[in-house]
Amino acid sequence: MDKIDFRSDTVTWPTPAMRQAMLTAAVGDDVYGEDPTVNKLEALAAEMVGKEAALFVASGTMGNLAAILTHAGRGDEAILGQDAHIFCWEAGGMAALGGVTPYPLPTDAIGRMDLAQIEAAIRWDDPHCPRSRLILLENSYGAKNGAPVPLDYLAAVSDIARRHGLATHLDGARLFNAAAALGVPARAVVQHVDSVSFCLSKGLCAPVGSLLCGSAAFVRQARRIRKILGGGMRQAGVLAAAGIVSLTEMVDRLSQDHENAALLARGLASISGIQVDVERVRTNIVFFYLSPDVTLSAPQIAAQLRQANIWIGAESERHFRVVTHYWVGPNEIELLLGALEEIMRQGVRQSA
Ligand SMILES: *Cc1c(COP(=O)(O)O)cnc(C)c1O
Repeated sequence: MDKIDFRSDTVTWPTPAMRQAMLTAAVGDDVYGEDPTVNKLEALAAEMVGKEAALFVASGTMGNLAAILTHAGRGDEAILGQDAHIFCWEAGGMAALGGVTPYPLPTDAIGRMDLAQIEAAIRWDDPHCPRSRLILLENSYGAKNGAPVPLDYLAAVSDIARRHGLATHLDGARLFNAAAALGVPARAVVQHVDSVSFCLSKGLCAPVGSLLCGSAAFVRQARRIRKILGGGMRQAGVLAAAGIVSLTEMVDRLSQDHENAALLARGLASISGIQVDVERVRTNIVFFYLSPDVTLSAPQIAAQLRQANIWIGAESERHFRVVTHYWVGPNEIELLLGALEEIMRQGVRQSA
């Protein structure tokens, strides 16, 4: 039996329609700009987010890094959330490869930096200082329960950036989840930023790939950076074909994942020994915690669930992350809740 995997939406397999599209994809050499399927995917992506152009890249990390190295250079500084994916989970690429230093700021319960703190973080034009060049945003905000970040905040940050001559980039790995939760089209979410990257390989189920979108001039330079990073792929149409299915067939169903996440959160809340803030579950990510009286640790519980072929993420000794996606629906959720309830009953018995 295939495993039931709630660890992330990156674990999604390609759908049967994707496998079929990959099999029959027209291809060419994309470094020469001659892969018709890649070109089609890029045009479709640009159209969907309302930007002039798009670039197919190997991963979300590569998309963000190519964006940063396009907007900024050595000695420049990028302001971002201290729990942003780019700051925490992308191996320090901006500094390691670009000489761009991050300026991390705290974020609130839904991933917003304080506007006054952003403004205060922008440096004087002085030879002592790094040059403030870029503000990095994220939507949905992974570290804050996948919270959708509201449009008025994005508009306010972009206003600050414009007044100070800084660029803005949005890490929209789960852009379409954010748009679905906000009830607006993706183009509305990105209207205020100069560039955006989003993943095909998460909830949209493609096996590989992200898109980086912006003005034609931005994407021309990002294409050069992608080549520097070793991301110039050749007959990438076999991958882009799956991405086209992602954008045409998988976007509109994301709200189902959100409903399933809410269902899961409500179920978790009813299990004794588990604490979860149901109100904070707005997209497809659920964090939950063990109450102090539970003797088992989160890794122990996750290991027991694996024996029932159910995989969840133990994020620390006391908390978990679960993510809903195309391959885990109400049936799988019921299996998880049932198995977890049984484990918790034993955990509580041990502590009694
Ligand atoms: C997954 C993710 C990325 C990176 O995507 P990869 O394809 O795994 O490199 C970037 N930002 C956020 C918010 C993500 O969730």
